[in-house]
Amino acid sequence: MITVQNLTKRYGDHVAVDDVSFVCKPGQVTGFLGPNGAGKSTTMRIIAGLTPATSGSATVGGVAYTDIPNPGTEVGVLLDASAQHAGRTGAEILTLSALTMGLPRRRVDEMLDLVSLSPKEAGRRVRNYSLGMRQRLGIANALIGDPRILILDEPANGLDPAGIHWMRSLLRDYANRGGTVLLSSHLLHEIEIIADEILVIGQGRIVTAGTKDSLLAGAGTRVRSLDDVALFDALRRADIRTQAVPDGGFTTDATPEEVGRAAAAAGVALIELRTGDGAQLEEMFLQLTADTQREQPTPQGAL
Ligand code: ADP
Repeated sequence: MITVQNLTKRYGDHVAVDDVSFVCKPGQVTGFLGPNGAGKSTTMRIIAGLTPATSGSATVGGVAYTDIPNPGTEVGVLLDASAQHAGRTGAEILTLSALTMGLPRRRVDEMLDLVSLSPKEAGRRVRNYSLGMRQRLGIANALIGDPRILILDEPANGLDPAGIHWMRSLLRDYANRGGTVLLSSHLLHEIEIIADEILVIGQGRIVTAGTKDSLLAGAGTRVRSLDDVALFDALRRADIRTQAVPDGGFTTDATPEEVGRAAAAAGVALIELRTGDGAQLEEMFLQLTADTQREQPTPQGAL
């Protein structure tokens, strides 16, 4: 179990994490979704005892990470796959971890096997690894102490689609055996594939949270018309609350039938009316994080 309560982190005047609370339960893969700069890494670094919180608390298995005597055997952490020592081989990195945690050396081969790094690859220096190989090595390093809790920051970065599905199976098995997983990503489709529970963060705040299924269901109905002003009025008169979508039209928690009836009663012609699906979760994610996205500087040459 990971428990985060009213966590806030300020850097000077800037609030990177703003009163964040959540729980990650055993048996579940919790996806931490938000655009770059939303506060995911800062939250995870605080949980892993690397950054002090300004206020609030974070515990893993009921205690602060820094109070765990041999933390690698309780909590596996992968915060930055590229931060591994570039001059060491993959096998050396895992051997050092095994020795530090007092584990038998055979754990190294077991982990290499688990993440599909061949003996030849394990003998290469990490500076010659692709990002995907570094992620696999980082996951092996996080799992080597057989922890009950895993904290992974953007572990799917650099993995190809087959690698992402591989990771889903690995984490699914881990969670099915009672493990707790907190995993971050700035890409909705990665979280949709891998996670059971989703926490969405924008500008340091949790904007929505729930099971993947409930968030999909909660996406409700998508409706567009030839005249969105008239549609808005018609839905308001029927006590149907709406959220405007940037591309036009609305999303609402009402059913398609309720929306269709309200529009028909007002003589509004609809050009789209459908129930929640994956695309709607994407719309919701874009909507929820639109302000954050707009504040990101546009990279040179991106347009
Ligand atoms: P994410 O992981 O979601 O991309 P981060 O947690 O890395 O977001 O960053 C959240 C915010 O905190 C960003 O605005 C970032 O610039 C800021 N930030 C992160 N670390 C520091 C730091 N050490 N000093 C100052 N600001 C920081």
